[in-house]
Amino acid sequence: MINLELPKKLRASANQAHQVAQEIFRPISRKYDLAEHDYPVELDTMAAMVEGLADSGTQKIGGAAGGRSDTDEHATELLGNSNGGNMSALLNALETSWGDVGLMLSIPYQGLGNAAIAAVATDEQLKRFGKVWASMAITEPSFGSDSAAVTTTAVLDGDEWVLNGEKIFVTAGQRSTHIVVWASVDRSLGRAAIKSFVVPRDAPGLSVARLEHKLGIKASDTAVLLLQDCRIPKDNILGSPEVNVEKGFAGVMQTFDNTRPLVAAMAVGVARAALEELRAILKDAGIEPSYDIPANNQPAAAAEFLRMEADYEAAYLLSLRAAWMADNKKPNSLEASMSKAKAGRTGTDITLKAVELAGTIGYSQRTLLEKWGRDSKILDIFEGTQQIQQLIVARRILGKTSAELK
Ligand SMILES: Cc1cc2nc3c(=O)[nH]c(=O)nc-3n(C[C@H](O)[C@H](O)[C@H](O)COP(=O)(O)OP(=O)(O)OC[C@H]3O[C@@H](n4cnc5c(N)ncnc54)[C@H](O)[C@@H]3O)c2cc1C
Repeated sequence: MINLELPKKLRASANQAHQVAQEIFRPISRKYDLAEHDYPVELDTMAAMVEGLADSGTQKIGGAAGGRSDTDEHATELLGNSNGGNMSALLNALETSWGDVGLMLSIPYQGLGNAAIAAVATDEQLKRFGKVWASMAITEPSFGSDSAAVTTTAVLDGDEWVLNGEKIFVTAGQRSTHIVVWASVDRSLGRAAIKSFVVPRDAPGLSVARLEHKLGIKASDTAVLLLQDCRIPKDNILGSPEVNVEKGFAGVMQTFDNTRPLVAAMAVGVARAALEELRAILKDAGIEPSYDIPANNQPAAAAEFLRMEADYEAAYLLSLRAAWMADNKKPNSLEASMSKAKAGRTGTDITLKAVELAGTIGYSQRTLLEKWGRDSKILDIFEGTQQIQQLIVARRILGKTSAELK
């Protein structure tokens, strides 16, 4: 029989993350929405807590540091079924995004670059980079979706890589201690030559050019980074420095299999927040969705609510499936993209529908609904847009290459 309940251990850590979201994030959510670029100092307390929990072996709170810490002690492991680092990171990201996704993206030491490191670092690199705060720098002024179009270069000079290029829209690009940068080691060899590099904040030649003003997730800093003859140690390359034209792009793309379900979970978290708020507002207006009466026999708002809740469940379960597959070493690129496509769309649909159904309350700043409507859009954009996820799903199902279907 299928049991969709979370294992006890994961439930405990998700509950802990939920508590943080409720007690630390929600009270300061509006404050940092209005004070874009101010550093949320309250997160320092959290960082200390996270550090303490990590040292004591407890699951981390919030954040994107998924990957391969196969920590499951749940009985199902005996059946060859484990819930490890990816599932735990996913649930924590979901719960903290329920509190505030902008703040969640600002949690120290939990950047998207951490998931990339966890996915591909060697044991030696994990020792060096396991506890850093890493952002992820792929996008450049000349491309966004087409991540094979990287123009930033990395040239080996003795014991150092020398990086040159410009990276834009880097989440936590100013605050993180390290940046995972995508660069080409030989542009004549195309996408196979794109590698990821861990660049420490204090590396010579790295600078922040400016911060972006944005529609939502204002608590999160989004930076333009310049790499001008930026020097990093030779062994800061993630994965093999060899260019394998046969294998192509697979090495760096692998990180998306871990990060896309996480971003999907963030969208699920914001959607859940909006659904809960909307349910309370509808209740005050005398409307309570019933699970015993057909939707078409209920008030229109209740019927809409039930439809949104069904979408929410589908997005949630798709995200769990993708993370579970990653933990169980099953190829999950298709499922990761499916989860991100569904959750990204559901996140924006639910939050904006909630604004709509709540009327003037929804549009005003009296609740956080309008903020969640703004915050959710990015979750359908970064780590691959809605359209790109659909393209990937179509390619995989139809067995087409990226050249055949674009
Ligand atoms: C707030 C914020 C934070 C970000 N954080 C990061 C980060 O931390 N690291 C990082 O590297 N990047 C980051 N990004 C960049 C983000 O990943 C890109 O914006 C995204 O990949 C889309 O690229 P683009 O904006 O250049 O759009 P484009 O690629 O120019 O696309 C424009 C539109 O065309 C659509 N489109 C493109 N190609 C196709 C196609 N083949 N078929 C159909 N439709 C298509 C897209 O879906 C989109 O709707 C961030 C962006 C924002 C706004």
